[in-house]
Amino acid sequence: MPPIISVTHLSKTYGTGFKALKDINLEIGRGEIFALLGPNGAGKTTLISIICGIANLSEGRVLVGGHDINREYRAARSLIGLVPQELHTDAFESVWATVSFSRGLFGKPKNPAHIEKVLKDLSLWDKKDSKIVTLSGGMKRRVMIAKALSHEPQILFLDEPTAGVDVELRKGMWEVVRTLQQGGVTIILTTHYIEEAEQMADRIGVINKGEIVLVEDKAGLMQKLGKKRLKLHLQGRIEAIPPALSPYNLELSDEGCELTYHYDTKGERTGITSLLGDLRAAGIRFSDLDTTQSSLEDIFVSLVRTP
Ligand code: ATP
Repeated sequence: MPPIISVTHLSKTYGTGFKALKDINLEIGRGEIFALLGPNGAGKTTLISIICGIANLSEGRVLVGGHDINREYRAARSLIGLVPQELHTDAFESVWATVSFSRGLFGKPKNPAHIEKVLKDLSLWDKKDSKIVTLSGGMKRRVMIAKALSHEPQILFLDEPTAGVDVELRKGMWEVVRTLQQGGVTIILTTHYIEEAEQMADRIGVINKGEIVLVEDKAGLMQKLGKKRLKLHLQGRIEAIPPALSPYNLELSDEGCELTYHYDTKGERTGITSLLGDLRAAGIRFSDLDTTQSSLEDIFVSLVRTP
């Protein structure tokens, strides 16, 4: 199946001469949840704005559902729902009126059954007659999502959906996003929160200083994250690893005073118990040990570290 979004050789230079995006290439598959992770100023909002046709690109091409975002703007834009970072709605309108009005902006005929479904999916049905001003912050955010879904888009962009939201509400938002995915919507979200990307996304892209520095599916990342390292600090120096220990693929370092063993926490057996037994049998004693795990945070930090 062709990707629902295809970005090729996209660059953006602002009027100030600042190059905010540099040769971005990205494809998003139908029905996936893609998280775009990056530090402040990395270019996340700029990228989203260009894909949604709100900002102009300087070079390259963006196709949405096969439509060129510049040349076939209306066809491309009608496939997209966008939830911006800032919440702006008419505070004194009701939830129902606000969401229905948004649908009208796309020139779509009224469809109360769809609006009802959206409000129910977002747990806003019992608030449909409430004025926006009376809602909590989390509910207001959900109203923004409902607005973005009012014209039945196939793609939903969420720019920092849980910024400044407490843990409980954040989890609620994740559930909402999953429900939407099950309903067939492709979701692209930007986030600062590594945990959010880890919890929700099928695929994660990391953007830094206008460049995509990593795109990987979560399963692949998780495999990397499942690896742990056990370091044994030996009581005495050894010249070489005894042949009896060769199946463990140990590394000898620190001038013969440290042994490192890599193991998979997701495997059935870590091999640690037998390793310790075999070490004892080989007469190797250790004075201390520690284990470390690479996390998405380590990967992220090493990718976006300023040199
Ligand atoms: P945040 O996480 O803080 O929202 P972001 O990753 O969304 O950041 P962008 O808002 O896309 O980052 O901004 C990327 C870079 O482009 C920043 O350095 C920003 O200062 C710059 N920039 C954004 N808008 C403009 C503009 N209109 N004119 C000039 N530079 C801009």
